Amino acid sequence: MQPKRIIILGATGSIGRSALDVAVSRPDLFRVVGLSAHSRTEELLAAGRRVPGAALCLTGADSASPEIGYGGPGAVARMLEEAQADMTLNGISGAAGLEPSLQAIEAGTDLALANKETMVLAGRLVLAKAAARGVRVIPVDSEHSAVFQMVERFGAGDLEEVILTASGGAFRDRPIAELPHATPEEASTHPNWNMGRKITIDSASMANKGLEVIEAIRFFGLESRRVKVLIHPQSRVHALIRMRDGALYAQVSETDMRLAIQSALSWPRTETCAFGRLDLAGLNLSFREPDPARFPLLGLAYRAVDAGEGYTIAYNAANETAVDLFIRRKIRFTDLAGLTSAVLDLAWPSRVDSLEEVLSVDVEARAAALEAAKGF
Ligand code: NDP
Ligand code: MG
Repeated sequence: MQPKRIIILGATGSIGRSALDVAVSRPDLFRVVGLSAHSRTEELLAAGRRVPGAALCLTGADSASPEIGYGGPGAVARMLEEAQADMTLNGISGAAGLEPSLQAIEAGTDLALANKETMVLAGRLVLAKAAARGVRVIPVDSEHSAVFQMVERFGAGDLEEVILTASGGAFRDRPIAELPHATPEEASTHPNWNMGRKITIDSASMANKGLEVIEAIRFFGLESRRVKVLIHPQSRVHALIRMRDGALYAQVSETDMRLAIQSALSWPRTETCAFGRLDLAGLNLSFREPDPARFPLLGLAYRAVDAGEGYTIAYNAANETAVDLFIRRKIRFTDLAGLTSAVLDLAWPSRVDSLEEVLSVDVEARAAALEAAKGF
């Protein structure tokens, strides 16, 4: 069998670096043919040295470096067209990941999707486009990877509900009264996972789990009441599914994204993996309900997804804007939810049918969040 030809978008990030680890650990299975980054030229060049011959693409800055063959507007789309990949792994952070997801599908590659914002902003459009183009979208986010692996094996016919686990993030045990004083540095440390800064802060507020609830609803075509969240501080059980008869099945592995990444890259096959093998002996695994007073952004995600597609775009845009303001110390940690709630109070479309509409709701919601922030 020829190695699968892989493009890694966001190659300099936490997911991108893990994807490179996976790819170079199995040269018999994977050949990396393209890498992208946004602005960190040196890191992109270093990533490129791990996979000689791969095309390099820098989307957000000019580069004088002759090794970087693709730059400027449309660079990712051009690389996708020319590199003839079988699969694209999207590890770009934030709403900026949506268009590259669509471009990967248009280029006819399967999409291994870590960028959860793609599903939150345009899940229906993306899945329809993939079906029309005859390519698959495979989740990489650990919880969704877990559900996907289980649904692939058990079938969705008797599936009653999906349970996503959450670590609870940096502040899961801190007194609620202290949360208004939490600093960006404290929110940027995660008890279990080593990830990019935005998703780490989102873990502390549980906006990350909110985005993942929306992602799961869209990916697996479930009503919102069939997607539940439990706090599981040890982060070894990544998700559970409950079948019609009440039985629960769980996916259990190390807190290492490289297993989920390899599962997606090697889909539909299961291959031996150098990462993620867990020894259960001596571990105590516990589960509890998240406290809505501590994690209001989780409830707001359900409110958004029940209100319609424009609201989930607004949820993400408001939260991205709020996190940015929080990092710059313009608002407090507890204002993240207040700001997002204020933006969800405005009227947004219940259906969003094109990329242009998605982007316009996104821009409007960011402006609304900045406006609302003046009152905080
Ligand atoms: P990082 O911040 O570590 O990396 C982000 C990557 O995206 C970098 O390569 C960066 O390039 C690139 N990038 C940033 N902005 C843009 C832009 N505007 N256009 C194109 N590329 C851009 O993020 P993570 O790896 O933590 O997360 C990536 C995605 O995966 C997110 O959607 C996150 O929610 C999801 N995810 C992450 C997990 C994790 O373990 N980290 C787990 C599950 C999901 P540069 O370095 O040049 O700035
Ligand atoms: Mg996750």
